Amino acid sequence: MRSTTVAFVSALLSLHLLACVAEDDPDFVEPPLTAEELALLPDDSVVDVEHTDDVLVAGPAEDDAAAFDDDEAWPSYDVAVVDDDGDAPAAVTPIANAALLRWGLHPRASDALRAAGVAAWRITQTIGNAPASAGYHAQDGSVNGHPYSAATDLSVSGLSSTQIHNLLEKLGKLGFAAWYRKNGVDGWTGANHIHAVYANCKMKTQLRAQVRSWLVGRNGLVSNRAYTWHAFSAAAKHAVQNKFAQSHGGTSNGGAGYPGRINTSGAPLTIRAGASTSTAALGSVADGAYVTITCQKRGQSISGTYGTSTLWDHIAGGYVADAYVSTGSDGQIAPTCD
Ligand SMILES: [Zn+2]
Repeated sequence: MRSTTVAFVSALLSLHLLACVAEDDPDFVEPPLTAEELALLPDDSVVDVEHTDDVLVAGPAEDDAAAFDDDEAWPSYDVAVVDDDGDAPAAVTPIANAALLRWGLHPRASDALRAAGVAAWRITQTIGNAPASAGYHAQDGSVNGHPYSAATDLSVSGLSSTQIHNLLEKLGKLGFAAWYRKNGVDGWTGANHIHAVYANCKMKTQLRAQVRSWLVGRNGLVSNRAYTWHAFSAAAKHAVQNKFAQSHGGTSNGGAGYPGRINTSGAPLTIRAGASTSTAALGSVADGAYVTITCQKRGQSISGTYGTSTLWDHIAGGYVADAYVSTGSDGQIAPTCD
């Protein structure tokens, strides 16, 4: 049960999201997986030692179930990270990261799990600890001096079916390709848990194939059959697609910022040198393009697809009016530009 106040705020938030987010997108097309990608998915015909009961031990349960009474997720800004493998731009300096919710998480995944309301005890696995690990939870890399796996397992202990649905939606909206693995359902045999892959970081090829499988509504297992237990919203699919685009399909860690999408209802949007149409036009970005917003500032008031706003978004190449950018919020979601 939600309190009256929470329900009221939630209702306002729902209206707000309806007003600002393009929920349905007929252009959302993801190609089917190639034979090579299919071959990388986990084999559901053998015992998966990474996801057995003795691996997915949940800690002492605090009752965080009420955090999943709704499926609303606040936008999460992705911090810059230093890729210890040395192939990130040398100029990248991390902004202050919050302490990791759990060892083995990517800092952005950690922030996103916090934004979803996930308690640390619920995270049962990050970097794999199964001795005969199939490798999906093997270390993907190291950032800011800490090893991470893009794959995270969550306990569903204490959650109702509705709360698990809401948690999956929150995870999707925050950039996780996530499945509820329920014994006997959608090709899964084994311990009940959520397996979630964070899309905006460098990851192993098997996990890239899993994200691609999720994006086309499949189960991320070798059967690659339709995932039916939960139907993700268009907003969740967009979020994961956006985050995956930021990491160049899971091949880089360079995706700091906040994902947005241009919506002009047709015309290209002009990129400006500053937060005003009186500044120089430096180029344009196509309607429907995914962009990464690194910072925002106030400037000329512009009326666009999403109402009237003085907010301008800094993207690659310059500034665009926020009134034409779907960000999930009318407010400022990225740091203020210098
Ligand atoms: Zn897992």
